[in-house]
Amino acid sequence: MTMVLVTVALTGQSVRAHEEDHQTEDQLRREQLRIAVQEICPISGEKLGAMGTPIKVAAGDSKEEVYLCCEGCTNGKIDQKLWGTIHRSIAKAQGKCPISKKDLPRKPKSTVVEGQVIYVARLASIEEVQAEPEAALLQVDEFYASYIKEKKQREKKEEKREHN
Ligand SMILES: [Zn+2]
Repeated sequence: MTMVLVTVALTGQSVRAHEEDHQTEDQLRREQLRIAVQEICPISGEKLGAMGTPIKVAAGDSKEEVYLCCEGCTNGKIDQKLWGTIHRSIAKAQGKCPISKKDLPRKPKSTVVEGQVIYVARLASIEEVQAEPEAALLQVDEFYASYIKEKKQREKKEEKREHN
């Protein structure tokens, strides 16, 4: 399998696209959750999935992994406004701290582990996330999953209302 190497300017930093060979079902589920939570491409603003399978890239020094809507965007530049919007969506979807399980504050602290941004309620929790990243990631998967489920149910209800 070929490794796609691209650079995208992100405030002077670069992103790198990469493909993974064999993904387990858990990893696939995690990817799908993350795409659903990210919602839009940080370069075009297009909805992820609207232009085919989103492309994962690593952005900046923290190597945070984000998804782009299409191949064409790998030559683009990350829009800082969209970047902010995406991170507000991610924090909202996460909702709670994976360590304390408490609601996240309005401006939560964050860290990037294994390419994924994780928000915490208290600065001290960052160390705990970094000490056991997989446990935190699994917990965040569950927060995402229940957020997405609730959101879908809400949309269904709204749709019903519109048709009546
Ligand atoms: Zn695109």
